Amino acid sequence: MKYFIEVWGCAMNEHDAETLGGLIEKKGFIKADNYSDAQLIVLHTCCIRAKAEDKVIGRIGALSKIKKKRPEMIIAVGGCMTQQEEVAQYIQTRFKDVDIIYGTHNLNEFDKMLTTVLEEKKQVKNISCTDGMEIKEDIPIKRNDNLKAYVNIIYGCNNFCSYCIVPYVRGREKSREIKFIIEEVKALLENGFKEITLLGQNVNSYGHDFNDGTNFSVLLKVLDKLGDYRLRFMSSHPRDFDYELIDTINKTKNVCHQIHLPLQSGSDRIIKEMNRGYTKEHYLALTDYIFKVMPDATISTDIIVGFPGETEEDFQDTMDVVDKVGYDQAYMFMYSIREGTRAAKMENQIPEKIKKERFHRLLTLQNKKSLEKNKAMLGKVYEVLVEGLGEKGRLTARNRGNKVINFTGDPSLTGDFVKVKVIDYNTWSLYGELIGD
Ligand code: SF4
Repeated sequence: MKYFIEVWGCAMNEHDAETLGGLIEKKGFIKADNYSDAQLIVLHTCCIRAKAEDKVIGRIGALSKIKKKRPEMIIAVGGCMTQQEEVAQYIQTRFKDVDIIYGTHNLNEFDKMLTTVLEEKKQVKNISCTDGMEIKEDIPIKRNDNLKAYVNIIYGCNNFCSYCIVPYVRGREKSREIKFIIEEVKALLENGFKEITLLGQNVNSYGHDFNDGTNFSVLLKVLDKLGDYRLRFMSSHPRDFDYELIDTINKTKNVCHQIHLPLQSGSDRIIKEMNRGYTKEHYLALTDYIFKVMPDATISTDIIVGFPGETEEDFQDTMDVVDKVGYDQAYMFMYSIREGTRAAKMENQIPEKIKKERFHRLLTLQNKKSLEKNKAMLGKVYEVLVEGLGEKGRLTARNRGNKVINFTGDPSLTGDFVKVKVIDYNTWSLYGELIGD
């Protein structure tokens, strides 16, 4: 029997899908190349924005039609969207063709849910309402890549940013024991993986729930000794990102000087309304220190434009931070109401026209910054990890700053670290020439 997983949302969801793949293959299924070849189709969902949910509902409708012709097909819907009990109920009532409805907290029991459907031919709805992920170790993982791997270190989020639904669907922060993370990273390195990305909604909170002095810096120092490889992490939170961590990153040999530090807004008043817990000044002091101790660092960020009550002056504060920091990359979003969050009930919702106009100004500024950053790389030589064939028959590779550099070379270089010289650039891309390994 074959399976196919469709994933929406963030890196945590992508990695959840790898865990689901491992559990499904434990039941003897093999991966299909596309959903039309699969007997089991899993929709692993996101609910960060209402639009994401609408897409999933449409997808379930389409699959239900197909199932009329293929009654043996099994449809599973789960993840953040269905961790919301009322949504799970809605799907169970409206779509009788959905066989499995699961949440985020009990993902590790998917194989048991599948057994029930296969053996008892009945619908399973299993949404755990514990306060967070039930961490289980020794869960099989079907990795989608053999060079780069995700490793969960902490689940859930305690921050309750006023616009975000994640804490309500991913639960409270729970750190994995350090010994299991070490074991997983060791096994990945023994299996030839070259790059590890540590995952969490807020990796900077790692270990605080142990109350024994364990923290993210401690973890990085331990993992740094396990071999020669690239170590990355996401996502960070400026409130919990400290100078000790910056010094730790700088002193390690494997942790890449690539930092994703979501700003969301540059206005102290809006940051407060967002319940983010830092100031513009604090954020700029952090980025100044990062560039002081690691001049080669690349910083990327997330920004929300048009948060309720945002004035032109508030927006100018955001533009000011973008201008001062000089991000290599910024993920920019127009605020959209997410039911179930505090911000959704706030007054002074910003008209779409104003959001669009501000978004456009921000995008123009960031593109100018990205172009400047790429121009500064011209003529420089970087060690890159070759990921494989990209556009126009060129190879795609990334430097330690997570910048993609495309170059002409033999596909057999895939998986190798080589040296490339940047010979051309534009706002979004860099082009290089191979100068050796
Ligand atoms: S830190 Fe804030 S934005 Fe990020 S997942 Fe937690 S609540 Fe959401």
